[in-house]
Amino acid sequence: MFDSLSDGLQSAFKSLSGKGKLTEGNMRDGLKIVEQSLLEADVSYSVVKDFMGHVSEKALGKRVLLSLRPQEELVRIVYDELVETLGPVDSALNLKADGPTIIMLCGLQGSGKTTTCGKLTKLLQEQNITPLLVAADLQRPAAIEQLKVIGSQLGVPVHAETDHKDPVKVCQAGVEMARRDGNRVVILDTAGRLAIDAELMAELKKIDRKVGPDQVYLVVDGMTGQDAVNSAGAFNDALELDGVVMTKLDGDARGGALLSVKQVTGVPIKFMGTGEHFDALEPFRPEGMASRILQMGDMVAAAREAHRIVDEQEREELEAKMASGEFSLDDFKNMMQKVAQPGLMGRMMGLMPGMGQFKEAMESEAAGGQLRQIIGAINSMTPAERKNPKLIDATRRTRIAKGAGVQSPVITQLIKQFDVMKPMMQAMSGKGSGDRMAMMRQ
Ligand code: GDP
Repeated sequence: MFDSLSDGLQSAFKSLSGKGKLTEGNMRDGLKIVEQSLLEADVSYSVVKDFMGHVSEKALGKRVLLSLRPQEELVRIVYDELVETLGPVDSALNLKADGPTIIMLCGLQGSGKTTTCGKLTKLLQEQNITPLLVAADLQRPAAIEQLKVIGSQLGVPVHAETDHKDPVKVCQAGVEMARRDGNRVVILDTAGRLAIDAELMAELKKIDRKVGPDQVYLVVDGMTGQDAVNSAGAFNDALELDGVVMTKLDGDARGGALLSVKQVTGVPIKFMGTGEHFDALEPFRPEGMASRILQMGDMVAAAREAHRIVDEQEREELEAKMASGEFSLDDFKNMMQKVAQPGLMGRMMGLMPGMGQFKEAMESEAAGGQLRQIIGAINSMTPAERKNPKLIDATRRTRIAKGAGVQSPVITQLIKQFDVMKPMMQAMSGKGSGDRMAMMRQ
């Protein structure tokens, strides 16, 4: 995500590194690279202009030019401006205390509206709320079916009328049904088009007027750039938007839409979609995103990712085993297998401060091969050996190596690593680890 923008900004900072004090000329050269990176990321020109105006004013001030670490100063200034451009934080759904809260999703076709219905449903279910979904996209033939599938996968009701032609009536009937059945939230999945057109806007305005949604969210494809700005402007003119859901930020989004959309709509980015699965929706945090763009890592997201991989119960079991010293090579293998999922190590590295540089190495064939070797070696051991690696003498080592198709030193190395790791894990899982875990979960 944002690789070229991140690389561009890094090269701007690097251009200043090693220079104790700066001349205005040096700084202007660095700023030019910042500007160029934003334009190449397809950020809207007016946003770039404002962004650079603010950044330049601060960066060319005497305090920065005379500071001992001008490079760090520029990073901080760009970080603050990114947070300002992306903010504010507001992922509240603002549910009403009485009657159903109606959330209307709108956006271009393919932006991810229907998928976002499922993701919001999952989020609400985590708060013990069962929403009712309304299939008001009567344009895309498969949309109604897609929503029904999502409803049955997640176990929530879907109101759909296959032969109806009027989306307003479908929405009204859906809201009525939610009122009757006591659903606290209704999510309207409205129609999109490949491009903005008057008919679509008229339809959405009519739904807005006659159904009166409490929250109107624009779903924007994060892979787009300036185009997103134009369409967001049109939606914003037609409807009173309350927030934006930015999707597909897991792909190779360049950053254009993300950095431009708040200026055009004036409403906060509420959530971001980071995958096709229902749990791939995160509250949007400008600070975390600015850190990721600047490759400073995002510890909160890393902790969330770690918790997604190992569930609560498994974690408790592992902690108990570590504390009592029962943690075995089998447990080690299970952990390795979880981490060895394609792309996961790289993703985790990308989220850790300062680890971004190892991202590619972790995603490489070689890293995957090493993990597979470790797993293969453990598989070649007997249950007793896995429980107590001290049993593994030279004869056993040769047998295991042969079984796993590796050289014997690989086994020696693995046991050594495990020996070093075990007391460390034991210590970590002792007193205070609960607090640490709780802290990570926040
Ligand atoms: P709609 O026409 O606006 O309802 O769009 P859909 O919900 O059908 O989504 C269009 C495509 O984008 C589908 O293939 C989705 O799986 C995919 N999609 C939606 N959100 C995300 C996301 O956050 N990440 C990724 N990678 N794909 C997404």
